Amino acid sequence: MMQKVLVIVEQRHGKIKSSALEALTVAKQLAGDSPLNAVLIGGQDLSAQSLRGYGFDTLLLATDDRLELYNPMAYATVLTNAIKACSPQFVVGISSPLTRDVMARVAARLGCPIINDAVEVTVNDGTVQVLKPIYAGKCLAEMRFAASAQLAMLGLRPNVFPPATKGDDTPTVQELVVDLGNLPLTTKELRQGASERADLTEASVIISGGRAMASAENFKILHECAEVISATVGASRAAVDSGYAPHDMQVGQTGKTVNPNLYIACGISGSVQHMAGMRTAKVIVAINTDEDAPIFSIASYGIIGDLFEVVPELQRQLAALLHDFRTFGQ
Ligand code: FAD
Repeated sequence: MMQKVLVIVEQRHGKIKSSALEALTVAKQLAGDSPLNAVLIGGQDLSAQSLRGYGFDTLLLATDDRLELYNPMAYATVLTNAIKACSPQFVVGISSPLTRDVMARVAARLGCPIINDAVEVTVNDGTVQVLKPIYAGKCLAEMRFAASAQLAMLGLRPNVFPPATKGDDTPTVQELVVDLGNLPLTTKELRQGASERADLTEASVIISGGRAMASAENFKILHECAEVISATVGASRAAVDSGYAPHDMQVGQTGKTVNPNLYIACGISGSVQHMAGMRTAKVIVAINTDEDAPIFSIASYGIIGDLFEVVPELQRQLAALLHDFRTFGQ
């Protein structure tokens, strides 16, 4: 496979998101020996230096004050121009809320096919074959881009593809001059979620609470445990609707789709809508007082017990284990 590929690299406050390395793995698979291009979009102080070692031949850099905060129309214009500048066969990005949005807009503008949420990408006789979960993760659909497609967009589910190893190369920077004109939409402020931790969609460890948390105050035990195991805290819709947690913490069909290495569900029954968002987690631990709770049907490990006793105990045990690990290195 020798295709020209353009990778969308996401940044936040000038810092490259680690998921860029996952996109790079697939981009390299598609590009073979062909040149690898990247587009980086952001404010005036965006530095190309941060993409050293990523193996990109050319970096298209678009900087403008109005690109500092995500503006769907402006970002779509930049991506469209980047595509025109390097004429790739594939545009690859991570299916994060931002990239998913901007890729869909540009695919509609340019009339090209798009597949989001890919969990497997294979190349057979020059045809790119993609697996993606459908029906809330119950089935996997096998899709192919038509051989006649001159341009195709591919969004990858975060935390699925192994991150590429960095080298010490430096890309050629090509400034992408974009006339944003009079934008009909201005982004004035982006409000940061309360957590400093990785976003749920990119977190490798998640501890989530359900209705059984019984109050916002009680979520404290999950935050404390998360601190010890470097996890991001999530919630079921019942917990969100009850006002125990903000909506940006919701996991599930109408919340976020997550794919961590470890998902700990505390007092969550395991409705189809919740499982739709987390069933592809690599290891699932469920803590529930009801041994018949549906969550146990997909759990790798089940703990039948009261979360208010189990979570603090789990935290103590894990803190001790991690302490030994850091002290003795095993
Ligand atoms: P419950 O189902 O009430 O479960 C609470 C669990 O806690 C029970 O299993 C109970 O045994 C256990 N428990 C009680 N006390 C303790 C204790 N002390 N220790 C341990 N365990 C205890 N839900 C989502 O989560 N995400 C979504 O995105 C979502 N989208 C939806 C979209 C639609 C269109 C619809 C109709 C519903 C959606 N829902 C979603 C809601 C979903 O159907 C369930 O109502 C919800 O997931 C239930 O949340 P829960 O498991 O926290 O609560």
